[in-house]
Amino acid sequence: MTTDLKRLIRTIPDHPKAGIMFRDVTTLFGDAQGFKALIAQLTEPYRTAPIDAIAGIEARGFIMGGAMADKLGCGFIPIRKKGKLPWKVYAQEYQLEYGTDTVEMHQDALDRGRRILIVDDLIATGGTAEAAAKLILRAGGEIVGACFIIDLPELGGTKLLQQQGIAVRSLMQFEGH
Ligand code: AMP
Repeated sequence: MTTDLKRLIRTIPDHPKAGIMFRDVTTLFGDAQGFKALIAQLTEPYRTAPIDAIAGIEARGFIMGGAMADKLGCGFIPIRKKGKLPWKVYAQEYQLEYGTDTVEMHQDALDRGRRILIVDDLIATGGTAEAAAKLILRAGGEIVGACFIIDLPELGGTKLLQQQGIAVRSLMQFEGH
């Protein structure tokens, strides 16, 4: 079943720059059966887990996270790029290959002790997911885990999160960057 989902992901070599194999999940999202199977597989491990909300990372994490929240009967919290959220935010900067980026979350998005599952399409270096985790912890949330469609294990993101005690699940892996 996982193999079928993998076949629905389009790989675009050298995008957005030379050497990167861009794993494009829009082809998977656009396939009715594929999308249904994707959401079923992502939510399955958490069906009995105590989750108050999913924190989805902009933008593909919104698409998966919204559907997952509906299926799990929990809330949804957007983790957005800098300057997009309208209310008071916590901001967290993180390192890119060249330079930095910032993600933000509303300060009142979650109450202390709320149990949160982080969701994004892909984990590479783990910098984005780690920044999301820091925002949740700063607001007093507890992290139940982090889940992704794709892991690029050579980039070490899964290990980085695991070292911080975060349980990570991915449906599939791809070699390289
Ligand atoms: P990172 O912070 O290094 O773990 O990068 C993860 C974020 O960058 C995710 O939001 C991904 O959507 C995006 N990303 C990184 N590498 C790729 C890739 N090879 N293909 C598609 N998206 C990627």
